[in-house]
Amino acid sequence: MSLLETQGLTKEFGGLTALNDVDLAVEAGELVSLIGPNGAGKSTLINTITGQLSPTRGDVYYDGTDLVGMKPFEIAQLGVGRSFQTASILPELTVRENIQVASFAAEHGSFRINFLRRRDSFEEVQAQTDDILETIGLDSKADSDARSLPYGDKRRLEVAIGLATDPDLLFMDEPTAGMSPAETEMTVNLIGDLLTDWGMTIFLVEHDMDIVFDVSDRIFTLHQGELIARGTPEEIREHPAVREAYLGG
Ligand code: ADP
Ligand code: MG
Repeated sequence: MSLLETQGLTKEFGGLTALNDVDLAVEAGELVSLIGPNGAGKSTLINTITGQLSPTRGDVYYDGTDLVGMKPFEIAQLGVGRSFQTASILPELTVRENIQVASFAAEHGSFRINFLRRRDSFEEVQAQTDDILETIGLDSKADSDARSLPYGDKRRLEVAIGLATDPDLLFMDEPTAGMSPAETEMTVNLIGDLLTDWGMTIFLVEHDMDIVFDVSDRIFTLHQGELIARGTPEEIREHPAVREAYLGG
């Protein structure tokens, strides 16, 4: 079995079918990208896999476990992480504290925990936090208030928060949105590091097609909630339905 599989995954919002019978599989160690126009259902797909939304129909298997009905923190504990498209940052806390809180929330299923009392796990979390800060390149800003970070660093902190749950599979929803070219390049390098140094499997939603075609092992194309194409970057570039629906003919 693949690391991740969806079978007939469907999500309806009232009369709107945001996801329609989506079957996909992701193998361990792959970088797959999901592309599709605004409103295609990309974020909904991630949200139904990671437990923020429950599917109307269908199944999601991660490493053989059916995730449907599980809470987001339970899914995170299995090794499925995500960096959010919308801010998950706690602005009053420092960069380091944001990562620590995310680690504890992942472990205990709640932000409402006095984690300083739990010494053993606190030391573990500190070591892990230092690792993440270094990987993300935020170590020099560890003690800055999150709210004072420039935009690109905030987006990277969101990735760091995603890493705090120690995932084997990481969902990244438009990680470079709004970034400068330099920040974008840093993020692309980071994605490469996560794949090669951390051995992660990555599921990327990204609007910049140059990045998608450059980094992906395989690409899924979503159009109005349906997967209309899947394949290698070469296959997707030449796919008639993709060219028509998305790449502009
Ligand atoms: P994408 O991420 O590809 O831009 P989304 O998954 O955000 O697309 O949205 C897919 C469709 O579902 C859109 O038509 C959107 O308006 C709708 N949608 C998304 N989330 C909700 C929600 N919580 N309630 C109602 N409709 C939603
Ligand atoms: Mg989206």
